[in-house]
This record gives sequence, structure tokens and C-alpha cells, in this order.
Amino acid sequence: MATETYTFLKNIIGRNIYNELKRDAKQYIPVATVVLIVVLVLTYFFHWKILSWILNLITGTSLIFIAYIIGIVLLLDFGVNVKMTRSWDGSYKMPNSKPFKYHLTKFWEIILVVLAIAAIYFSNKYRRHYAFECETFLVDENSGIYHLEEGNDDEECNYTTKMKGYEIEELGYSFCESCKDWVEEAEEVYESERYSRR
Ligand SMILES: [Zn+2]
Repeated sequence: MATETYTFLKNIIGRNIYNELKRDAKQYIPVATVVLIVVLVLTYFFHWKILSWILNLITGTSLIFIAYIIGIVLLLDFGVNVKMTRSWDGSYKMPNSKPFKYHLTKFWEIILVVLAIAAIYFSNKYRRHYAFECETFLVDENSGIYHLEEGNDDEECNYTTKMKGYEIEELGYSFCESCKDWVEEAEEVYESERYSRR
């Protein structure tokens, strides 16, 4: 009797696609992991716009990161041995009553998916925060308020110096209200444009 390593996921998407994807994951995930670690370590020490741009490209809700996370899930997906049954044409197929261990793979996969969603959520937060840290602001040291540098149409905006987000963070200054409104409006316009293009 033939046995094959199976998981719930493998049974759903089919053994050929599953094996192919897993082979690709084994090839690309180690390299991608090294790149990701290098970028994350660099963001810890430096505040460069180019790094923020790369981070936006490879983490959070970007397709590259989602593909990466799917690859990780596939690599961590553990199979159990299932005794195949022979069908009328001589090919092997999954038995109708599956072993108990096989059902456990489903629970492990649910845990992996939850962790995957958490990874996307937190890396998204991180890349947004890092983008703020790299941004240059106009800072009024007397009032402890900082303004946008780009897109700021406030004529009476007074400032004493320019600082990057990570420098302001340590000072506990607050963001200018009218600049905040401007950002929110700009984001709304961006969102509505994005949706209207569909
Ligand atoms: Zn302002």
C-alpha cells in the first residue's frame, strides 16, 4: 500500500500545485528572508527615504510580502502520512475516512494563517511608522508644533528649524492641526481616486 505525506491544504489545492509551490518556496524564501532581515536591520540604524521606499515595496500589504508570507506558510506546513487507496484506474487517491492526525494539520494551518495576518498587519504598521521617521518637518521649537514640509499651503507657518520624524519623536512635539487636516484630505482624495479608477 502506498503512503503519501498529506496536509489539509495540500488536499484542497491539489498535490501537483502544492508540491510545485513548496519547491519554489524552498528556493526563494531563504534569499528573501536574508534581504528582509538586512533591510529591517538598516531601518533600525538609519532613516533614509530610499529605505522607506524599499520597505513599502517589500512589507505590509504589498503583493511581494503577501507572496513571501504564503511561501513561509507553505514551508511551515507539516504533512502526515496517509495510506492512499487505489482507485479503479490504478491511480492512488485520498481515502474517504482520513486519519485523525490529518485533521490536526487543519488546526496548525489555521494558526499559521492567523500568524500570517498578524505579520502583514504589524509590518504594515512598522513601514508607516518608519515613513514618518524619514519625513522632514518644519518645526516651531517655541510652541512645540511641527508642520509638513511638502504640500504645506499654510502661509503663516512659522518654524525655527527643520527636523526628521525620528528626531521629533523624542521631543514629544505635536503635529499642527491644519497640516493634519491637509494630510487627511489628501489621503481621502488619494483613496477616492484609487477607487474611482477601478
Ligand atoms: Zn501646519
